[in-house]
Amino acid sequence: MVLAAQVDIGDEYLAQPEEELCARIAGRKRELGDRLLILGHHYQQDAVYQFADATGDSLKLARFAAEAHDRRYIVFCGVHFMAESADILTADDQIVILPDLRAGCPMADMASREEVEWAWRELAGVADGRVIPVTYVNSSALLKDFVGNQGGSVCTSSNAERVLTWALARGEKVFFFPDEHLGRNSAYALGIPDDEVVLWRRGEKLGGNSAEQLRRAKVILWNGYCTVHMQFKAEHVAMWRAKAPGVRVIVHPECRHEVVRAADQYGSTEGIIKAVSGSPAGSIWAIGTEVNLVNRLKHQYPDKQIHSLSPFQCLCSTMYRIKPAYLLWVLDHLARGEVVNRITVPAEVAAGAKVALDRMLTI
Ligand code: SF4
Repeated sequence: MVLAAQVDIGDEYLAQPEEELCARIAGRKRELGDRLLILGHHYQQDAVYQFADATGDSLKLARFAAEAHDRRYIVFCGVHFMAESADILTADDQIVILPDLRAGCPMADMASREEVEWAWRELAGVADGRVIPVTYVNSSALLKDFVGNQGGSVCTSSNAERVLTWALARGEKVFFFPDEHLGRNSAYALGIPDDEVVLWRRGEKLGGNSAEQLRRAKVILWNGYCTVHMQFKAEHVAMWRAKAPGVRVIVHPECRHEVVRAADQYGSTEGIIKAVSGSPAGSIWAIGTEVNLVNRLKHQYPDKQIHSLSPFQCLCSTMYRIKPAYLLWVLDHLARGEVVNRITVPAEVAAGAKVALDRMLTI
């Protein structure tokens, strides 16, 4: 699917002070009332996040979208693949909107349908037994459609281990896309030996493996990664342990395996929020995930010491594209009865993708 380009919204929006934009967004929200649902991912900046009717990680937001039968417009403050999932899970007469079409996910772009189909055919030529494909929700609808049609499922960072267990009960091997690290961390948590987990490098014959390695493998990982979570290093964990005795280190499973191993615990964004909110006053946390979420936790829990694990700003620059000016721009159009930036997944792609998403929601 080719994404339409984001149009220039002009100085009428871009040159306005944030305070004024926010006041106008609040007015439009009141005007659109129950016809509108704004969904906000935890990595959104506060200026946008404050307007969300429901907030969460990918899984939670997918569920909100699926259950919002009474809302005509769903404005998704997140990235493109999330808006696609919302469109797949909602009725045809519901309209899903992404405020800025440039808000994609670099990790999702690392596994195109064509590349995966090519790899699938190569693997089928050497592997014995059934291979079950599993795709992280951070992937295009086209890839989810492929996975749905091949008997596989979507997973999120909250349920990857459960979905992997489900898949291994149905086949001899799992082909996991696009995030190597979520796949490796989940396989490790399930006790799958390292020599049964192999990496499929895009562009290399048999993914850079021998036929024997692939025959022996239980889990085959695509070599995609999140540019934000790759910035956390094992030495950051060591640094915090030396600097703040008693610190608890919690990281997202998109982090490298050595970072997850060095941390005290790992979890999805929802899991991180739960761990921090449930900890006693005075707790010290070093958190390895996107900085907007870490800063929000810091403000929400002033009785705890909350730090980013990395000394550098780990910001998701594509999430950050959703700014108040773009949110107001789409709401202004809706108030005039016009729809801009609609995300539509063609019916023939949505069918297989929905099968894969529904499998995840029931596993
Ligand atoms: S944080 Fe990483 S995985 Fe999430 S949207 Fe940004 S680049 Fe993609």
